[in-house]
Amino acid sequence: MPSIAENVSLVREAMVRACDRANRDPQTVRLLPVTKYVEHAQIQALIDLGFKEFGESRPQQLIARAQHFSTQIRWHQIGHLQRNKVKQLLPYISAIHSVDSIRLAEALSEALGKSGVLPEILLEINLSGEASKDGFSPVELTEAWPTLTALPHLKITGLMTMAAQSDDIESARPTFRNLRLLRDELNTILHDDRKLTQLSMGMSDDFPIAIEEGATIIRIGSRLFS
Ligand SMILES: *Cc1c(COP(=O)(O)O)cnc(C)c1O
Repeated sequence: MPSIAENVSLVREAMVRACDRANRDPQTVRLLPVTKYVEHAQIQALIDLGFKEFGESRPQQLIARAQHFSTQIRWHQIGHLQRNKVKQLLPYISAIHSVDSIRLAEALSEALGKSGVLPEILLEINLSGEASKDGFSPVELTEAWPTLTALPHLKITGLMTMAAQSDDIESARPTFRNLRLLRDELNTILHDDRKLTQLSMGMSDDFPIAIEEGATIIRIGSRLFS
């Protein structure tokens, strides 16, 4: 089995190739390791390689890990978040990728107003049309947009999506492209200081396609650890 360092190198090389194909600067794409499957030792190996931010999908696990590692390490909540977990989670996070309802956004804004921290907030968008997936559909987003942007303590910096599972990674491309187009469309009505800069899309199998379509954060789990 290759080491984590070897896997990181392979992913980074694939990131550079995808950036080359899309004429993008590799510095504009962040590799976010997703550590939900692994033990502390593997997270430590990534910290030793210089990583300082990790994605976790379950709030309880995120908190347990955050309490184990140094406060220098920051955490991204990437999976579904219930409102009753918001307050506990806030001290540990630098980003939430999975804001998928107005009610959660309201709860976050209220809690953030009291805590004074300012994590990056991404709205999860369901573009694959699968009912099993969380997230705003594009129509729901349009309806929710005035409410979301009026929340005083929520700094929405981008959008996140997940493509449908498929053996053919090219089938993810329309989903990723549509997220970028949606972001661009929203930006036409946003002031310069509120423009959405982040697109969180692409996982172990489909990240090269996501980068070609404009991803700024790729969330990589299994590929680093197998
Ligand atoms: C688990 C997970 C990932 C990483 O998936 P891999 O296919 O293992 O790279 C990315 N995003 C979310 C939301 C996840 O839950």
